[in-house]
Amino acid sequence: MSAGFPEFRLGSVLATSFTATLTERQGDAVERIPTPQRLIDWLAVSGLAVDSCTTAQLELARELRESIHAAATAAAIGDALPAAAAQVINDCSIRGRAAAILTPEGNRQWRLGSASRVEDALGVIAADAIDIISGERDGKMALCASPTCRAAFFDTSRSRTRKWCEMNTCGNRQKKARFNANQRKNDTAARTDAS
Ligand SMILES: [Zn+2]
Repeated sequence: MSAGFPEFRLGSVLATSFTATLTERQGDAVERIPTPQRLIDWLAVSGLAVDSCTTAQLELARELRESIHAAATAAAIGDALPAAAAQVINDCSIRGRAAAILTPEGNRQWRLGSASRVEDALGVIAADAIDIISGERDGKMALCASPTCRAAFFDTSRSRTRKWCEMNTCGNRQKKARFNANQRKNDTAARTDAS
């Protein structure tokens, strides 16, 4: 069902996992929810399973995603929040009718409206974005140091000095690039020594 599509980048924060469905925004952008079915898949693995998704709902989801990205980026660099983005986030939050449920095991579960609508799932994501952008949750918005990524992420490290959006992707790629550059330099030096 998902064969051939780029895999998801799931983090611990719902709102920034959602903005990470479009990666490498400043490079060769990768769209990870290119079809309604992929949005359904993403919502399912994010604890927000829906029954169906139309093209219009996918467009609404992408509008929310880009609005969260814009508002989170502004928050990260200390700019004024873009009013249009805040409006989209607020509209989605207001429109959603999800309820938090406490399971017998003591976990939180989201119960979406009667038809398990995409709009209800987006409401949960919008509320999560409001939490992190407003500073209600412990942490700080920051931008990924990768020049091709520049994703806004929520830094919960104690020192608030995390540089990369995902330690296992952007950070490692950067490290690998540096390592390869050093290798090449060393190889060149070795050849020069030998001659
Ligand atoms: Zn990154």
